[in-house]
Amino acid sequence: MNTGEKAKVAVIGAGIVGLMTALEVQRTGRQVVVIDPGEPGGRQAASYGNGAWIYPASIMPISVPGLWRKVLGFLADKSGPFVIRWSHLPRLAPWLLRFIWAGRNWQLVEDCAKVRFELCRRAVTDHQGVAAEAGVSHLLEHKGLLFIYRDKAEFLKESREWDMRRRFGVKINELDRAALAKLEPSLTERYQFAVQVDGAHCRDPNAYCQAIADLIQKRGGEFVRAPATGFQVSNGRLEGVKVGESVIACGQAVVTAGIGSKKLARAAGDRVPLETERGYHVVLPLGGNAFNHPVMPSDGKMGITPTAKGLRIAGQVELASVDADPDWNRAEILRGFGSRVLDLPEMREKAIDQWMGNRPSTPDGLPCVSAATSCHGLFYGFGHGHTGLTQAPATAKLLAALVAGKKPETDVSPMSVKRF
Ligand SMILES: Cc1cc2nc3c(=O)[nH]c(=O)nc-3n(C[C@H](O)[C@H](O)[C@H](O)COP(=O)(O)OP(=O)(O)OC[C@H]3O[C@@H](n4cnc5c(N)ncnc54)[C@H](O)[C@@H]3O)c2cc1C
Repeated sequence: MNTGEKAKVAVIGAGIVGLMTALEVQRTGRQVVVIDPGEPGGRQAASYGNGAWIYPASIMPISVPGLWRKVLGFLADKSGPFVIRWSHLPRLAPWLLRFIWAGRNWQLVEDCAKVRFELCRRAVTDHQGVAAEAGVSHLLEHKGLLFIYRDKAEFLKESREWDMRRRFGVKINELDRAALAKLEPSLTERYQFAVQVDGAHCRDPNAYCQAIADLIQKRGGEFVRAPATGFQVSNGRLEGVKVGESVIACGQAVVTAGIGSKKLARAAGDRVPLETERGYHVVLPLGGNAFNHPVMPSDGKMGITPTAKGLRIAGQVELASVDADPDWNRAEILRGFGSRVLDLPEMREKAIDQWMGNRPSTPDGLPCVSAATSCHGLFYGFGHGHTGLTQAPATAKLLAALVAGKKPETDVSPMSVKRF
């Protein structure tokens, strides 16, 4: 390998985590090559179809004490926000058990929240900085996020989670029905109480990713449109990334391939319990300014977000294998629930898009931000589950520090691949 090749850093995967990582690595003066068979943030990526929330208060893992009871309730309800394809259960059971075990007591939840807090807290300003550099500030809107409840009693059932957020400094603005209706007149009477927290939303996650990719290219980064299949390693040291029959020579590489990271980590000798929590979205046409704030109904667990292309309703957790066909009933469920939330004529219109994607999820609610166990020069940045858009900028900075051999700003040991 010549000096130029040694100095090169390959970033595998051009979802939001890979793109932010490539950008941060470039800032350290390194040449980057981004490898992905799809377009940056394209339909194949979770980063394409998410709820578009940039949510600094998303510090809680999904698994909390008592979740298993709720899961049983959800499973009994075929139109609920959580579903398992039963034929896939034997393969998924070990992950599911670890997931429930990870949230077995509140101390564990708080430990996890501490780490997540560091990944989330500067999300809005970091994204705003990147969007400005990429010339797409108009794609981010900073209006806050609304969690809506049928009444205050329903909100109080989650008070433990909200109190924990308050302890981390999250400011929560409580709204009664009158204040809520003033803010979002099209919300149905079903919702009588809400809390508003700081946060932003992205009006077009795909265009945002494309703009970051253009910026990387402008700064000299290369893009290779092919899947990475493994690594060339000599004496335990990375020498290149295998792409089909050829090898892209590089001194260091970062695996940020979302759900595809599991196979790549395996190829490097690390077994990671990464599974897909499949999610869906449906987009309805949205005219005028009828709806401005992203909302999440507590009984539907979905994000309803005004985007440039229409009203995006994103959510559902479907546990099934990556390659199982989409079940478009899940998108219909989102759409049906949406009309309980918003009283808009648009809710009766034909959907203009529907999508299914893979949340790359670890059982313990933390991503892997880590050096590989036995391949010097290889790093991991995957497993962001429900909050990868939010956590991408902080993750990218940590990874850039690891690649540069510097001490990351935050202790990354809880996110080590060795914890598995
Ligand atoms: C319905 C839904 C709603 C969500 N809502 C939100 C939200 O509101 N806010 C939030 O913060 N997060 C949200 N998320 C989560 C968020 O979208 C993900 O955590 C995030 O997009 C993960 O980004 P990523 O870059 O790790 O993976 P991805 O976006 O999936 O990108 C991975 C990329 O790697 C590529 N790849 C895979 N294998 C290989 C290979 N072998 N070689 C090369 N490239 C490869 C893929 O082609 C893909 O482009 C949501 C997710 C879903 C599904």
